[in-house]
Amino acid sequence: MAISPKTTLTNCQHLLCEEFALSFSKHCWTHLEFKADYTKQVEGFLKTADERSVCLNLRKAQLQDLNFSRLNLSGSCFNQAHLKHCEAIGCELSKSDMIGARLESCHFVGCALNGVNFTKAILRDCSFSYSDIRHASLTESTLHDVDFMGAHLYGVSLWGAEFNNVKHLKRKSFQDPQKPSKETQAAISESNHLMACDSYRMLKHYLNNSGLYEDASWAAYRELTMERKYFFEKKDSRYLPSLLMDLLSGYAAKPNRVIVSSLVIILFLL
Ligand SMILES: [Zn+2]
Repeated sequence: MAISPKTTLTNCQHLLCEEFALSFSKHCWTHLEFKADYTKQVEGFLKTADERSVCLNLRKAQLQDLNFSRLNLSGSCFNQAHLKHCEAIGCELSKSDMIGARLESCHFVGCALNGVNFTKAILRDCSFSYSDIRHASLTESTLHDVDFMGAHLYGVSLWGAEFNNVKHLKRKSFQDPQKPSKETQAAISESNHLMACDSYRMLKHYLNNSGLYEDASWAAYRELTMERKYFFEKKDSRYLPSLLMDLLSGYAAKPNRVIVSSLVIILFLL
């Protein structure tokens, strides 16, 4: 008999438990009796699944050697799950909950991961090649040996993220490919100016250490722009000097502004 996934969440049947039951089970991970068999149950579903959209609840589940390729699992819950040696090629996972998840040797290729919440997740030896990670949250996540070759990270939140041997991130990674070329200003999430300022500072160090000095100067300019916006918000007296520095020299990152402002000063003195 084919296993059908739960489309609506039901409560765990363990007495007094307030968690939702896992997909394909009557219990949550904590109260699941035969944990070793659970990977096989999920595997059985993945093998027979067609292209229908399925929302899975795999909260806290410990799973390995699964293949999620070409499935539409958007909005699924992987909260605090531990996935090992899993593969996902062309998989739709947008807006999934990966808060506190632990992903080891997992490979996402050409996946839709936009809006995924990776807050406090630990990613080790993973790749996100050519995946769409726009507007995802990597807040306070830890990334070891993670490859972002060709990935799109426009609007991603990076506050407090820890990078260890992260590969193939550059300014272009933070552009939005869906915007017309004139508006391809690379950016991370800037909704909180102070957090964005910290995140751009981290990116600046990362890009400098990668030898991408021009890309690092973009991050440095955005860092100081976020700082100026924060000063404005807080009515801080450092706002005006910061604004002047931007207008006169673009925080030393825009040579054209230095030339124009120097010419204006010379003409004024004449
Ligand atoms: Zn339970």
